[in-house]
Amino acid sequence: MAISRFCSCHGLWDHCYRAPAEDGGASPAANPASALPLRKTYLIRHAHILTIDPALGDFPFGDILVRDGVIAKVAASIEAPDAEVIDGRGMIAMPGFIDTHWHLWNASLRGLVRADDPESGYFPVTLKLGPHCSPEDARRSVRLGVAEALASGITTVHDWSHNIRTPHHADAEVNALRSTGIRAHFSYGWGQDLPLADPMNLEDLGRVQRSWPDDEGLLTLGAALRTPVANPRGIVPVDVLRREVDAVRSLGLHMTMHARPGVVSVLDSHAMLGPDLQLVHPQGISASEIERLAQNGTRFSCSPVIEMHYAQAARGEIQFHELEEAGIRQSLSIDSSAASANADFFACMRALLWSHKQRFGASKPLPPKRLLELATLDGARDLGIDDTTGSITPGKRADIILVRTRDINMAPVVDPYFSLVYSAQPSNVDTVMVDGRVIRQKNEFTTLDVEEIVREATQSVTNLATYLSA
Ligand SMILES: [Zn+2]
Repeated sequence: MAISRFCSCHGLWDHCYRAPAEDGGASPAANPASALPLRKTYLIRHAHILTIDPALGDFPFGDILVRDGVIAKVAASIEAPDAEVIDGRGMIAMPGFIDTHWHLWNASLRGLVRADDPESGYFPVTLKLGPHCSPEDARRSVRLGVAEALASGITTVHDWSHNIRTPHHADAEVNALRSTGIRAHFSYGWGQDLPLADPMNLEDLGRVQRSWPDDEGLLTLGAALRTPVANPRGIVPVDVLRREVDAVRSLGLHMTMHARPGVVSVLDSHAMLGPDLQLVHPQGISASEIERLAQNGTRFSCSPVIEMHYAQAARGEIQFHELEEAGIRQSLSIDSSAASANADFFACMRALLWSHKQRFGASKPLPPKRLLELATLDGARDLGIDDTTGSITPGKRADIILVRTRDINMAPVVDPYFSLVYSAQPSNVDTVMVDGRVIRQKNEFTTLDVEEIVREATQSVTNLATYLSA
């Protein structure tokens, strides 16, 4: 029997509350991580190990010992009789990919978005459907997006959540992340139907911070802010942004914001740049703005697949090279698997490579090893978790993927960096370990029920689609 609940955020009965069984465990007592695989002692043997740790280098034929979720040892040969052996022959072992900006709440809208069509493109569809998304829709979409991420070898996501319409939406997304076992940075944002003159729910951001789940450090919290210059979602007034930035900084949280031409100057003139700010989309930035970014330690997440889509639409070329030259810290991201229609992190590396080659040809090479660093360790640095993950370093948590080298699209592998960037695709990712848990093995999830995830997301989007024609 359905139980009526009063929705305090809207002052309506049964408006956005659903019983815990339906809302993804929004109840604080629920532990959505309880169904995840156990952490065992693992010995990955005879893999070609790319540690991405400059002090450790590579092991063309090496072993990795994992105990209690931690990388215990990396060496040419390790004896560990108590360990469960994972055969790494014919595999590249590397740190899992780290995505640094992804709107998981709209992953399930992929089938409804038609690239950059003025009627059915990413912005019109998400602006129209965002206000109709319930916490349950958000939960289902996050789980769909994360399942695709894990299958692509992504072990950390930055859930850049700009449809937190109610506290229940925040709880549903956090619990959905926890239920998958992925490592995540969750940036609490606003609702798509929030008036631009209204600040985001800063009180609830404080609540979420106070009740943040322990989960052994698997999740971290930040804030997503609106952009104070022209963009499809509207210009947030600077005085509103001022209140938000001050509140977020008083909580000690990192911030993230979509960049648009001119935004760096606006932020700089109001002392909003800093090492606690990540900007997204390095396009349309002037030389003097790049200098100020470098002086302030502000970082940039580059979503090359999307940015190539929008390069002609007032944003300009991807300025990865200019920022790299200026010493600005950068990372890679999916942005939206609804907009790009996929979450292939190998393609993400290739898109940046192709953009760079188109601009500079052979005169300024972008080596595959640099792209792998951007996709792993630099992503961890961007999210402030490089002491935890991003490389295969003893003492860090065990976020490791195994990529097959003998598949038809990979073989023969001579230089693993080259093959990972130029040839690999998600289907080559054999094993995915996050925090010492084997989430995928032999291309199959160990505990996540993909059929259920797809069925639920399909039901959700079928319902939401009715609002497109309304
Ligand atoms: Zn974005």
